[in-house]
Amino acid sequence: MHISKKIFKNPWFIGVGSSILGFIIIRIIDAIFGSKILLSLWRFFSKIFTSIIHFLNLKFEWPLYGLILLFISGPIIGLLILLIDAKIQRSREKPLPKWYNYRRDTFDGVEYRWDWGKDYAGKYEIRKLCAYCTNCGCVLIGGSCPNCNSKYFMSLKSEDEIKALIYYRIENMD
Ligand SMILES: [Zn+2]
Repeated sequence: MHISKKIFKNPWFIGVGSSILGFIIIRIIDAIFGSKILLSLWRFFSKIFTSIIHFLNLKFEWPLYGLILLFISGPIIGLLILLIDAKIQRSREKPLPKWYNYRRDTFDGVEYRWDWGKDYAGKYEIRKLCAYCTNCGCVLIGGSCPNCNSKYFMSLKSEDEIKALIYYRIENMD
């Protein structure tokens, strides 16, 4: 299959083959009509035809380094596209808000710490809000400190109240 394809693509084979075939046909026409004009016409067109075939075949004759370059250029171009895309994505990302490091505050004598996370819409929200003892920094359990036994029942606020206070401070931040 490959060999026969190669032969038919060979400009020499096509040139000689078509010339011989044309010559035979012209000879037959000559024998019937007895004319030499057709022969010279055939030679003229045959030359043009073989030149075109030769030209087209030239384009298929890749040097080895050309083929190697062709094969490796695909992944390289793909990689470049990915890198450019990642760069565009990064440039689109908004810089961190100025209050991003605001993760702890004290309200009514109780320290609160939290993290910032993004919701599905990309909006920042308070996560892992937790109350801490202001005396020793231990996490409060049920309004009291398990470490130093300090009591915070009276001053402890609900999670929603703390969130409201945090958002209020952010909005009024300079
Ligand atoms: Zn404590």
